Amino acid sequence: MKYKFDEKKLLGLFLYDYGHHKLYSAPFLKDGYVYASDAHKLIRIKADTLNGQYKSTTDYSLSLANENCDFLITRKDIEEALAHVPQVRETIFTECPECEGSGVVLVEYVDKEGETHELEADCPVCDGSGTKERETGKMILSPFASIAISDFKLCAGEVQLLLETMKIIGVTEVHLVSFSQTDNRVVFRIDENISVMFTRSNSEKADAVIPVAEGKNNQPGRKS
Ligand SMILES: [Zn+2]
Repeated sequence: MKYKFDEKKLLGLFLYDYGHHKLYSAPFLKDGYVYASDAHKLIRIKADTLNGQYKSTTDYSLSLANENCDFLITRKDIEEALAHVPQVRETIFTECPECEGSGVVLVEYVDKEGETHELEADCPVCDGSGTKERETGKMILSPFASIAISDFKLCAGEVQLLLETMKIIGVTEVHLVSFSQTDNRVVFRIDENISVMFTRSNSEKADAVIPVAEGKNNQPGRKS
């Protein structure tokens, strides 16, 4: 059986945002699994449960951290924790309309002899940055917020990504299956075919907490 969810959208959530990072710019096939990663977060899905064709590679030595625990986390608890995280106004950077993103403008200077000189100067509108900051009117999670799970923390944005992943796949709970003080990787098993891995946050304080319950092994996940 193959999944029916939007796998392109799901895998895309884990790829590098800016498109110029060649190493992990597309999902790839390795040892029977499809991986998508930006080197900070990763999703691994059993290849024969997906519909797309993915290029095989042996270039990367990506692997999930070994399972060493089993805690159950519900979608409701994740949503509640995210609701407690401070929000900020989203701002985006767009090209400065004055200098069209170059950061420089041409100015003319007329000297005492009456001769005209063309000079380049920092754009006075964007101070030479070439960009203009603009509020989108949308509220987003504070980029500095973190959420505590058991005795580690994750960036709130990654918890939001975990929630988004659960929604796309259609599950209401996940299993935390790997974390330790000596490894900054944290692994969640979504179901028997899909796992995700995140890097822990070093944040001192947490803005919210997700409670964990001892999970039963072999808890049936959503069937593919
Ligand atoms: Zn400018």
